[in-house]
Amino acid sequence: MNPRTNSELLYTEALQHIVGGVNSPSRSFKAVGGGAPVFMKKAQGAHFWDVDDNKYIDYLAAYGPIVTGHAHPHITKAIAEAAANGVLYGTPTELEIKLAKMLKEAIPSMDKVRFVNSGTEAVMTTIRVARAYTKRNKIVKFAGCYHGHSDLVLVAAGSGPSTLGIPDSAGIPTSIAHEVITVPYNDLEGLKEALERWGDDVAAVMVEPIVGNFGMVMPEPGFLEGLCAMTRANGSLVIYDEVITAFRFHYGSTQTYAGLANHAEIEPDLTALGKIIGGGLPIGAYGGRKHVMEQVAPLGPAYQAGTMAGNPASISAGIACLEVLQGAGVYEEMERLAIDLTAGLQASADRHGIDLTINRIRGAFSTHFCNHPVTNYDHAQDTDGERFASFFRHMLNRGINLAPSKYEAWFLTTAHTDEDIATTLEAAEASFKAMAQ
Ligand code: PLP
Repeated sequence: MNPRTNSELLYTEALQHIVGGVNSPSRSFKAVGGGAPVFMKKAQGAHFWDVDDNKYIDYLAAYGPIVTGHAHPHITKAIAEAAANGVLYGTPTELEIKLAKMLKEAIPSMDKVRFVNSGTEAVMTTIRVARAYTKRNKIVKFAGCYHGHSDLVLVAAGSGPSTLGIPDSAGIPTSIAHEVITVPYNDLEGLKEALERWGDDVAAVMVEPIVGNFGMVMPEPGFLEGLCAMTRANGSLVIYDEVITAFRFHYGSTQTYAGLANHAEIEPDLTALGKIIGGGLPIGAYGGRKHVMEQVAPLGPAYQAGTMAGNPASISAGIACLEVLQGAGVYEEMERLAIDLTAGLQASADRHGIDLTINRIRGAFSTHFCNHPVTNYDHAQDTDGERFASFFRHMLNRGINLAPSKYEAWFLTTAHTDEDIATTLEAAEASFKAMAQ
């Protein structure tokens, strides 16, 4: 490895012009001891090259969207063709219909779709639509689930399961946070309590049906069924935030994921999408039942618009990405590699006496430095952040690029190979050994 001198120089310069030196706080190294983040200059397949000519194996996958690896030729070609035909029209295009149909076919509860530019926008609008439809104000969310950075969902739990929220960020009025009730994930009793107390004014219950934001966490058996039943009995809508999860584990969303029980019982009224469906370009989408979506302008009274929404470049990249994912065996192959990688990581950590809990769902997994299961946010918080930071830095210095946070997942892509896994495991063995000393 070359010293990361150029990254350090660029970071010093970036700090003078870009707030915090980064365009998203998750890119900073604050959670792993600080210092300059690595400035990358090129990405291809499962690999990155930094500005000091170091090569890395990438498991960040840009926080999820890069499921086919970087610069996949099919997607690159689609983007180039779209760019040659003009990137933004401000008129409808046939491409938008094609991607909408692909989403609808894969996610049966989406009768109607609307494209936006980010997951944040998609989630924000599902809440507005649910409020318009139910004529109620409050939403219930689950602790630790991240739903983008709009005011309403940037709220943490108060003390106890059914307290009203407090803002998680400066700049959010307490009055807005008071419209949010936070309960622990996988806790139907907590949800019941919240609905008993505030139910008359609850427009929607919003959930990451499989969690991707405090590690990868599966719903416990019956959790989604119970959530949907209770929410409907309360006259509220169920909103699934599938910005990370849709098309990640199989070609579709959580509601059709074969690992979960009865699909009809866990279908939401509204779904928010993003990340993978744009093939790496900015995108979001939301959709749901026809009678609910008809609240949206120009049909209904809930206003939502976007200059860039449905732009041909993002839509073309999304279509191309989904086409790659329709290929035979792509998810099975990502899962096979993830099984090998997680088995090797666990064995290596065990060998060096390091407590490690791994949550894996097909080709995605999270590593928690603890000796207990992680099924909710409290468990994920109760893990050794310093150990994670040390592991992160050891791996980075051995050419393995992970997300700089103990809560983020590792993502396999269709571009990773057995050789990448073997190299990663060698790096992990050396890292755990150094950490144990
Ligand atoms: N919802 C979930 C589940 C997410 O993981 C994210 C981003 O990580 C968002 C919403 C926000 O998406 P975006 O960053 O595209 O605004």
